[in-house]
Order: sequence, then C-alpha cells, then structure tokens
Amino acid sequence: MAFKIFLPISLIFLIFILLAPIGHAKRSTPSDKTSSPFDFIKKLKGCHKGNHTKEIHELKAYLEKFGYLKYEDKTHATNDDFDDTLESAIKTYQKNYHIKPSGIVDDKTISKMTTPRCGVPDIVNGTNYMQPRGKKHTPGFSNIHTVSHYRFFPGNPRWPSSKTHLTFRFSPNFPVSAVAPVARAFHKWDLATHFTFAQVGANQNSDMIIEFHRRNHGDGASFDGPGGVLAHAFAPTNGRFHYDADERWSIGSVAGAFDLETIALHEIGHLLGLGHSSVNAAIMFSGIGAGQIKNLHNDDIQGIRALYGR
Ligand SMILES: [Zn+2]
Ligand SMILES: [Zn+2]
Repeated sequence: MAFKIFLPISLIFLIFILLAPIGHAKRSTPSDKTSSPFDFIKKLKGCHKGNHTKEIHELKAYLEKFGYLKYEDKTHATNDDFDDTLESAIKTYQKNYHIKPSGIVDDKTISKMTTPRCGVPDIVNGTNYMQPRGKKHTPGFSNIHTVSHYRFFPGNPRWPSSKTHLTFRFSPNFPVSAVAPVARAFHKWDLATHFTFAQVGANQNSDMIIEFHRRNHGDGASFDGPGGVLAHAFAPTNGRFHYDADERWSIGSVAGAFDLETIALHEIGHLLGLGHSSVNAAIMFSGIGAGQIKNLHNDDIQGIRALYGR
C-alpha cells in the first residue's frame, strides 16, 4: 500500500519540481477556466448564410488568419454579413476537419474552431493542402490502398538533400527547464527520419532557433494571449520556431496546460517542411487540447519520407 501512495505523490512532486523554474508556466487545476481568443465563436452557434450577428467579422478574421478566406474588398472583411464567401470558407474548413460541410456554424464546427491550435495557416496562397491527394499504393501490399493526409507547404520547400545534419539553438532567455522537452522532440524526429540534430550554444550560428514570444513580436504573426494560438514555425529553410509565452506550459500531461514536447514535435514538423495533416492522431494535426500528449504518427513519418524521397 505504501508503494501505491508513494508513487503518485513522488510523481506530483517531480512534476512540481520540473515546472517550478519555467517562468512562463503557471500551475493549474482542472477547474481553471480561462477565456480564449476563440471563445467568440460560441456566440455564433447556428449562424448561417443571410445572418447578421456582431461577431461575424471576427469569424471572418479567424478564417482569414488560417487561410480559408480572402476578401479583395476590405469592407466585406470587416462587416457582419454572413455572405456566400464566408459560407464557402466554412464548408472548406468543415471538409478539412471531417465535419459535414453544411456551411452552418454548428456544434461540431464550434468545437473544432475553439480548440487551441498552431498559428500556421491550413491553407497558404489558396492551396488547400489539407485535402487528400487521393489513393496511392502501399508498397508491398498490392491490394491495400491508403489515402495520404500529410501535406507540404506550397512549392514543397525543404532542406537541401546534402543537408541531413541540422543544428538548433535556444534564445539566450529561453527557460532552462524547457530545453530538455524540445531536445527530446528533436531526438524523436532524429530516430524517425534521415536527419540528425544537434544543439549549439545560444550565441553560435544554427539552422534553427527556438524562442518564446508574446503578442506582436515582429515576424508578421502576432500571438494572441492565453489560449487560441499556442506556437508557430516557418517552412524550410527559415528555421524559426516560436512558443507563445502567454500560455500555460507543462512538462508532461498537466490539466489546463500544454505539453512543451508535444508542441515541439509539431513545430519541428513545420521546420522540416510538413504542413497540417487532416489526420486527428497525426502530430501535424493543427489543434491540441490542454493536457494532451501526442507522438509522431505514421502519417507524419510518411510525409517526411515523401518530401525527401527516402
Ligand atoms: Zn502547425
Ligand atoms: Zn513568431
């Protein structure tokens, strides 16, 4: 019995010790309810074409941010008219997230849209790279057909084929306790791909850099405070990966907080050239719940192999 009690207490203690030095992280309880920048979507429940509700311009901004919408005429972007363009954008979003494409802001759509997510758009330059490319053969299994869901950025940017060893560094003010989770994420990608990764000092040159930022931080993709967008990273060979410093971060699964390693696995996928996948279980799926832990999925590994032809 003593062992049974000791183990959970020691785990809790360990988590407490691990989290204590993370300046940006706050410990939380399951009852913690914080507001999210995506909460306005809940007020649009049941909205459809022809409606005029005051949050509709915010929904337009949300869909534009993630690549689903682009009005040539800015007055349409900022008014509260639920027009054809908005309906069509919602239908595309619903198809990407396996929801019946009704064009109506229904419960399932609200649930997906309010999930905290990566800031990288699902659609870049009008290319909807979350849509399946169709059936393909699985090598060695002549009668099994699989649909690939991994996606690349438009133009398939990638690291040169000669460059299989990539270096990364952390900004000088990066929380010391957040280094190990990111390093573990690089190690997992190292094991699953032809790449090798090595950390270099904060003042050395590197292929990739990981930093914490909040709100507007000068790269054209402002963070939005607690909840909403959690992190983002750029396509090859840019190398920048930013965590939103306003989130509650954790090492491992902690209610109300986001796992640093899980988010790093996702953002490293972008650094290597993967876009968002429509497979829920894939690390490259755009959304993630608080307390959720994920690992690399076959879809992610197949994606990297397809991009680099290995
Ligand atoms: Zn992403
Ligand atoms: Zn950034």
